[in-house]
Amino acid sequence: VENEDQLIQSAEIVKKAGVKILRGGAYKPRTSPYTFQGMGEEGLKILAKAKQQTGLRIVTEVMDAAEADLVAEYSDLLQVGARNMQNTKLLRALSKIKKPILLKRGFAATLSEFLMSAEYLLSGGNDQVILCERGIRTFVEYTRNTLDLNIVPAIKQLSHLPIIVDPSHGTGRYDFIIPMSRAAIAAGADGLIVEMHPKPEEAISDGEQSLKPDKLKQLMSEIDLIAKAVNRTIL
Ligand code: PEP
Ligand code: MN
Repeated sequence: VENEDQLIQSAEIVKKAGVKILRGGAYKPRTSPYTFQGMGEEGLKILAKAKQQTGLRIVTEVMDAAEADLVAEYSDLLQVGARNMQNTKLLRALSKIKKPILLKRGFAATLSEFLMSAEYLLSGGNDQVILCERGIRTFVEYTRNTLDLNIVPAIKQLSHLPIIVDPSHGTGRYDFIIPMSRAAIAAGADGLIVEMHPKPEEAISDGEQSLKPDKLKQLMSEIDLIAKAVNRTIL
């Protein structure tokens, strides 16, 4: 969320493409303290406005246990970012929230650590948990992270929880988003979280891993085809 115009425009684009949930960052866990940190509550208000205008559901990141109630007031799902996957105080606070949690895998989290973080939410009383594979750290340097699609069938064997895939952070490259999205759906992922910007070249954050509107449209039209080819239905 950079400002109201950019966000409302984005919401209209994703709605038109057939997307169900709008993700926008108001509290952003940036690597550098000198870069854009998000608009905070003002950003949440803009997201609420986009929801009101488009009917899209909203998901946004919560970074601090003390802000859990505030973020929950404005959003339909709450995202826990990779950096906070093992922030047990945050997980415990979110286990008491009556909204679904989108739990992203830590950069270096094993499968069992990832599932144990989900257990913090489940055992505390929140049974609405969606897992998200977003790439892990490896020796590979031509992509931002290494998208570990192996974890999709692994989670399907061990857990009843849905798992979605984030090819934007998993690759760091806009031109890899569509190929890796196809692979994720074919591997059994229950959904995708993809970055899009009306003008990626002007984005304040992560423009290099954001789709342009026409590419998002293309991706959305391909999902059904891929799902059908492997005998799946994606709602
Ligand atoms: C994000 O979703 O914008 C984000 C910061 O992702 P991650 O926590 O996976 O790095
Ligand atoms: Mn991002």
